[in-house]
Amino acid sequence: MSIVTSEQLVARLQQQIAQLEPEEFATPEWRKKAVLFDIRDVQDAADGVIPGANLVTQRFIELDIGRYQLEQDQPIVICCYGGRMSLLAARSLTELGYRNVYSLRGGFSAWKDAGFPVVKPVTLDAAERKRYSRHLSLPQVGEQGQLKLKAARVAIVGAGGLGSPIALYLAAAGVGYLRLIDPDVVEDSNLQRQVIHSTATVGLPKVESARQRMLELNPFIEVDARCERLNVENAADLLAGVDIVIDGSDNFDTRYSVNSAIITNRQILVSASIFQFSGHISVFAPHLDQPCYSCLYPVRTPNELAPSCSAAGVIGALAGVVGLMQAMETIKLILETGQPLYGKMMIYDGLRGTTRLLSFERNDHCPDCGRERRSVEELSAQSSHTACGMEGL
Ligand SMILES: [Zn+2]
Repeated sequence: MSIVTSEQLVARLQQQIAQLEPEEFATPEWRKKAVLFDIRDVQDAADGVIPGANLVTQRFIELDIGRYQLEQDQPIVICCYGGRMSLLAARSLTELGYRNVYSLRGGFSAWKDAGFPVVKPVTLDAAERKRYSRHLSLPQVGEQGQLKLKAARVAIVGAGGLGSPIALYLAAAGVGYLRLIDPDVVEDSNLQRQVIHSTATVGLPKVESARQRMLELNPFIEVDARCERLNVENAADLLAGVDIVIDGSDNFDTRYSVNSAIITNRQILVSASIFQFSGHISVFAPHLDQPCYSCLYPVRTPNELAPSCSAAGVIGALAGVVGLMQAMETIKLILETGQPLYGKMMIYDGLRGTTRLLSFERNDHCPDCGRERRSVEELSAQSSHTACGMEGL
């Protein structure tokens, strides 16, 4: 068999691979149904991309495509510079078994020349690439995943035992916008577990102490410090504008207020509680038809059954373990990888060194996300003013 020239190869692929005209791809129907991959060099794509494009290096498209978890029949459109490289990439995906792969004829140049919209993509600069290199080499993260982290907006309720490791690790991971909400100041007795603070910041508002430390760790992120007490009246406003809320609070009133707010705001809630040597972690997403906090705990725990942290004590390392499980769930949610703890409660027993998973369902009669949802006024009247403690299951 004689050697095939690149022109012959392209001509052959043009026969084998379906090609899509820019005019057709610009129709709302195609824009909606197809997943678009731009396989140009990141530096070239930085000047402009077709809206909605996923940036994937052509060299690795076969290895990267799996993490998008696409159905075999999902229409996939590949865009390169002029419509030649995309033929090769489309052939690779076809070989992997994808049945609806198209090459954009004429590539990005043809799209742009035809006057169709182009947007500037969010990209990583050289310093960010160096900083996040251990993420970039993970197939589940890569450049696209790091950009998702950069674009993510997360609120952390409480800058204490759970909030400290959550805030530190999400800052380090490059979550682009982190809002911290806590009304308290740093005290000496906090430092046994609230490791984001330091002896030097005793007396400062916790959110300010934490903000300083987070920006020292990662100046590429934005930290929005809110020195306020979250309650049922202000929760929805305080938490507005973020995708994910992490509850690291230490009392039931705040937990129910946060739960009510995420139902109103249609947000995901990563929740946890700790007590002495054990912790509970779960993820609630009622807007995605998953259970909420009140589906699991419809009846409020009476004050006397919820001993306070200061009375009952807590191991500092436990706050670290459980807070980082919350951080891990959050990163998974942002990256859209793995299985979130929806409808599942992970119970960590520090004394035994074991974890257990319990399953629970959405409750149609839930007082907060069910049909007969209680009002803010009712919630306010039911406030228990309970200190830290973990609910019994
Ligand atoms: Zn519910």
